[in-house]
Amino acid sequence: MAQELKGGLAPLPATNKLGFYEIRMASVGGFGANVAGKILGEAGVLKLGYNGSNFSSYGSEKKGSPVSAFVRFCDPSLTVRVNSPVTEPNLLVIFLESIARTPGMLSGVGPDTTVILNTPMDPDKARDFLGLAAGTLVTVDAMKIAIEEKTRVNTALLGTISAVTGFITHDAVKECIVEAFGKKYAATVPANLRTFERGGREYQSKKFAADGKYKPQPFSRAGQKLGYLNQPIGGTIPAAGNSMYKDLTSCRSGYIPVLDLSKCTSCGECDITCPDYCFEWESAPSKKGKQEQILRRIHYQYCKGCMRCVLICKFDALKSHLETEVDKAVIENGYITGAKEAK
Ligand code: SF4
Ligand code: SF4
Repeated sequence: MAQELKGGLAPLPATNKLGFYEIRMASVGGFGANVAGKILGEAGVLKLGYNGSNFSSYGSEKKGSPVSAFVRFCDPSLTVRVNSPVTEPNLLVIFLESIARTPGMLSGVGPDTTVILNTPMDPDKARDFLGLAAGTLVTVDAMKIAIEEKTRVNTALLGTISAVTGFITHDAVKECIVEAFGKKYAATVPANLRTFERGGREYQSKKFAADGKYKPQPFSRAGQKLGYLNQPIGGTIPAAGNSMYKDLTSCRSGYIPVLDLSKCTSCGECDITCPDYCFEWESAPSKKGKQEQILRRIHYQYCKGCMRCVLICKFDALKSHLETEVDKAVIENGYITGAKEAK
């Protein structure tokens, strides 16, 4: 229920039993969820005069590691004494479609929650994709906007957040975007403001009643599998070779390198540059009978789309492409042309 506030402040659209309107943002490193949380917190507290707090939770500061940002707003007369993660959000923002079906993503989402999902899908399709029991679902193709404006999805999503919450005003968020980006990256401010405006316009929203189509997911805290009684000494990970299961697909921000083997000289520069060992090589005899290492393919499962390999390749064998425009077969094969014969 909307809460009336003193001092001319717009009422909060909903509050929990402690009096907070709570936001949870789910993302991975590299998409600006932490910055978005800070901008939102500053807009609400410093520019508009609500009381509130913001913090983020992330592991190693590495592109691709899980990131959650939490923001709380309340009446200015209320003291913020809660500093735990948001478990039952009024607003859940999912920064990437690829992480949307992670177990527990919808944990604590109820019929009064608004979920914003970065996806080209419409709300009906997105509901089925997520398995959302009930609530308001807002979809926005923030990735497309970010690619077109050469920015990141965070400012597009801030535009959508400002539009759907109403009380975190457009002007307050804009001011904070200018302050946040103006100091270090002044040249990016106009593009970020355009991204923000588009995020506030180019979204679709639909409210779904609890019709029994999907099961609600009340908040539950997963138990710890390892603790001081049973964890290996020194925190070692005994499962050797477990990194082969890692999947960095969700870290890519719209672009992937495409390998044209007909131009590749197997010089190895890309392999030295790639931080994630994405390139697969094979030892094969050359025409002169000499054993050589030949580049065979890119493993896209391990590729986070940093594009360092594209910059380093002197032979034009690696090119940056929009991932949505690349044929699925190319991603499966790991190259765009037939395998190169040994030299
Ligand atoms: S893709 Fe480019 S950098 Fe990599 S081995 Fe081939 S020619 Fe060298
Ligand atoms: S973009 Fe290139 S360098 Fe970066 S992770 Fe992917 S393959 Fe490796």
